[in-house]
Amino acid sequence: MSNGKKMKVAVLTSGGDSAGMNAVVRAVVKTAIIKGCETWIVREGYEGLVRGNSEGHRHTNSVAEKGHTSPRVKGTESQETEGFVHNLRFGDGELLKDGTGDHPGGRTLKGRYIVRVGWDDVRGWFSEGGTLIGTARSVAFRTREGRLTGAHNMIKEGIDALVVCGGDGSLTGADVFRAEWPGLVNELHNEGKITDEQATKHAHLKIVGLVGSIDNDMSMTDLTIGAPTALHRICESIDNINSTAYSHSRAFVLEVMGRHCGWLALMAAVSCGADFVFIPENPPDADKWADEMCTMIQSHRDIGKRKTIVIVAEGALDSKLQPIRAEQVKDILSERLGLDTRVTTLGHTQRGGRPCAFDRILPTLQGIEAVEALLDATPDTPSYMIGVRENKITRVPLMEAVKMTREVAQAISEKDFEKAMSLRDPEFRESLQGFFATSRLENEPRLPHHLRMRVAIMHIGAPAGGMNAATRAIVRYCIRQGHKPFAIHNGFVGLLDDNVHQLSWLGVDNWTTRGGSELGTNRKLPDVDLGAVAAKFQQYNYHALIMIGGFEAFSSLQILEQGRKHYPAFNIPMVHLPATISNNVPMTEFSLGSDTSLNALVDACDAIKQSASASRNRVFVVETQGGKCGYIATMGALATGACIVYTPERGIDLDMLRNDVKFLKRRYALDAKGKNEGRLVIRNEVSSDVYTTEVITKMFKEEGGALFDSRSASLGHTLQGGIPSPTDRTRAVRLSLKCMNFVEKHHEQLLKQQSRSKQAPPESAAIITVQGTSVEWVPVQDMVEHADMKNRRGKKAWWEGHRELVEALVGRPQILAKG
Ligand code: ATP
Repeated sequence: MSNGKKMKVAVLTSGGDSAGMNAVVRAVVKTAIIKGCETWIVREGYEGLVRGNSEGHRHTNSVAEKGHTSPRVKGTESQETEGFVHNLRFGDGELLKDGTGDHPGGRTLKGRYIVRVGWDDVRGWFSEGGTLIGTARSVAFRTREGRLTGAHNMIKEGIDALVVCGGDGSLTGADVFRAEWPGLVNELHNEGKITDEQATKHAHLKIVGLVGSIDNDMSMTDLTIGAPTALHRICESIDNINSTAYSHSRAFVLEVMGRHCGWLALMAAVSCGADFVFIPENPPDADKWADEMCTMIQSHRDIGKRKTIVIVAEGALDSKLQPIRAEQVKDILSERLGLDTRVTTLGHTQRGGRPCAFDRILPTLQGIEAVEALLDATPDTPSYMIGVRENKITRVPLMEAVKMTREVAQAISEKDFEKAMSLRDPEFRESLQGFFATSRLENEPRLPHHLRMRVAIMHIGAPAGGMNAATRAIVRYCIRQGHKPFAIHNGFVGLLDDNVHQLSWLGVDNWTTRGGSELGTNRKLPDVDLGAVAAKFQQYNYHALIMIGGFEAFSSLQILEQGRKHYPAFNIPMVHLPATISNNVPMTEFSLGSDTSLNALVDACDAIKQSASASRNRVFVVETQGGKCGYIATMGALATGACIVYTPERGIDLDMLRNDVKFLKRRYALDAKGKNEGRLVIRNEVSSDVYTTEVITKMFKEEGGALFDSRSASLGHTLQGGIPSPTDRTRAVRLSLKCMNFVEKHHEQLLKQQSRSKQAPPESAAIITVQGTSVEWVPVQDMVEHADMKNRRGKKAWWEGHRELVEALVGRPQILAKG
């Protein structure tokens, strides 16, 4: 992280609360301090800005006011360190965290809405749901008078930059505030409420927005902060309901949040394999939907399905814009189909709870970007909203995003549903298509006979969350199109043993929620006996192969593609869908299973951290899997706030360990007295043969002396996770349907070849990858160049720079620079 000019930055959370808001506050506060800024939080959203601090509660402990040397941007190391140490804690974090605002020692937040906070005040905020600094819907701030008071309160504290985390309303408020700001300053100046100097210094307001909303209803960003956690909560509930629905052969109608946006409902439907879904963007025909729903659900029941799940978004409408209510759906299912039907309204349980891994990582990266955007801001730049596209943090003009978001509601109210869909991100439409493809039973296959294929599906390597969901989606899609899906059990060894069987629509029904591998996996590559493998391909007359797995699947694809020269049976489209918790497949930023694994790590580390700080100061060295790829360790460290991470890419040496011990000692010495602190160190299991987890733990224990103790924990196979995360399930559906489109396209092209012996082009053996903002196909021949075959990982890792973020967010450079 580079340094920037000094600002006084305040952060507030506004509108409905969402998981991840605390991670935003933490990231903004820490990044701003690193950049040499002073940091504030505003309690209770805009309402706190309007209320400000009552007399006598103005802060006097800013660096400048205390007579310290300011932590200059490009100052010497010791100046930076001094600034860092000064900004360590102001003691208000505990008040905010204990929820009462009152402290036994007499400190109180009463009458203080704009509160100075330091580095340690936001420690440990990661794992808390909701927002610790409070949120509100402020009527006063909607008025110019209220905003004038808000501006005055900010100027009194010297604050010149504001980060707002909230929904579209809050971001609209932010834009209005910034647009009005020069006028507000003028008015305050004319009324003599601020000095000439203040008027000059505060001529412009720097403002940036982050979208905190569980609905994922903001345009120009793929995800809003809190939406992934809300989806987790919904899926947990539905997974629990599934078993009781099955037991009693019942139907359940679930109402989920989403007034103008069906994202939660749709993703829950895809993740949980629901039978029907109602969302505002895709309203069914008002006169036909009841019939259509009954026909669909009856068709599922006719083939023996015992349970029925229908998901209704809070704001679901029909084509005449009449609301569709869960109770209404229930009555229809009970009366027309005679199903024992229950309604479950999930309500506020969807909002709360511990943030999932993504709602820790995304807000952290976005919080960092928000501070960067503030530092870059000039009077001529627009206010930005920080968004995300696939795996890239973006800056988009705030008002443009708000305008586009409003247009969705407008389009729905004008019955322009096509426009409403087009204003959502591309994933939304693909997910809807994915839902239809995996939930609808057709009377007639969609493809003509000559285009129908026999599709082989195989799991290779270690199990990973989402493998089964992907297989289910492929099977369902195949049946809908008229293809025949075949499971090859236990990889290539299974194929040679004829461990093959055709999969059915109902047979894969519950597979979305199942961890592990329903097909069974094996690490053996096809060169175990390539000729025999080719003979089996021929015997079973496969037209396409889909391999779901990690590095072995990629290696297998390479072998099969090269084998085309000798074995005509491999002249078929063949794809690899990356699925591995290690996320070590080259060129793709995500593999199925890596999100499930990160969540398993976060769950375990939250519990470990709790135990680590329960009795005394303790450093826990947590060992993770991941092969020779440090992805899980690094992203896990970012998601849990670990202070050190060891990866195979970087290795471990003595100098490093010496600095790590120095860092830990200094850090513990800076801690508040009388308070136990637990800290995490994450070590990939093959980071070093010599400096093992045991050695490092003992070293820390020895060196920690009276300051801190050390223990270790190995997460081992628990990292494969139990039930796959909703992200892995939805990603599985989306990517596997793209795989099917790919093999269909290449199959059709092969059919057009005139000669009897078809020659599949190299690009028809490819890996599906997520790269930056798009999904890309990479022919296996091209992929080889990007692979480090010896270490079984990509030559480049997009996440490698995140290790520096892990270190930056624990203040390591500043603490080590302290003489
Ligand atoms: P959610 O998506 O959870 O509803 P939101 O941010 O959209 O969150 P709102 O209640 O619409 O929630 O807005 C939050 C606050 O933002 C309002 O209480 C108000 O103080 C402020 N705000 C909203 N719109 C405006 C506006 N046009 N001008 C000034 N302030 C506004």
